[in-house]
Amino acid sequence: MVETEAVVLRTLKYGESDAILTLLTPGMGRVSAIAKGARKPTSKQGGRLQPGVRLQLSAVEGRGDLLTLRSTQVVDAGSGLWMEGYRLRAAGSILEAAMRVIPEREDAEAAYNLITRALALIARTAPRDTPPRLDPYVLGTQVKLLAISGLVPQLGSCAACGGPPPLAGFSAIAGGGVCPSCLVGSGAERLDPAAADALVALLARPLAEAPDAVTAGSADGVERIAALMFREHLGVTLKSGTPL
Ligand SMILES: [Zn+2]
Repeated sequence: MVETEAVVLRTLKYGESDAILTLLTPGMGRVSAIAKGARKPTSKQGGRLQPGVRLQLSAVEGRGDLLTLRSTQVVDAGSGLWMEGYRLRAAGSILEAAMRVIPEREDAEAAYNLITRALALIARTAPRDTPPRLDPYVLGTQVKLLAISGLVPQLGSCAACGGPPPLAGFSAIAGGGVCPSCLVGSGAERLDPAAADALVALLARPLAEAPDAVTAGSADGVERIAALMFREHLGVTLKSGTPL
């Protein structure tokens, strides 16, 4: 028997009346579970099993890697996420990053705390004029997921030769910023200094302070650096991210 808290990352219809859930848990990381009968009109749990909802659940190991849910209780319905289109899309970006970056069946306590904190912040944030995927909490979550994954970009000195700043380019292969000499012919792209500063600040500060770390002008660049690192080192391309 598995008893754990979990956040629903995704819900897929399965068969006549079942649902397959992708869940994020502290102890098992990402895990899939079948909720039998969840889509019957009489089901008590069906309506609760939506993306972004935080549950306490019990389940048993089923066939393969699939858990079979036995019972669920809502810990946090995330109701603030559903009332507002901006928040809904920002939450979607966070759930997508969790879905694609956090490994299956591995301890993920830090990532779990990060994602639940991020959803709670988004649930009460004020909509911005900029796209929801560039929300400071979304970017802060991506940058902290990089750190949890051991992928902090090196931005204090040249990631290729160790030379001092100023850095002129960003190379995901080298793992960070590169100096003007290393940029030449390296295939690295230009580094936006404001984005590098914002990324360093996002890493250093609590997620709740992300709006103070990233400006509307640096948000695109932060997203780009995070996207390049995820793609190069984890083979993950985030749909919500800038096209690569
Ligand atoms: Zn260099």
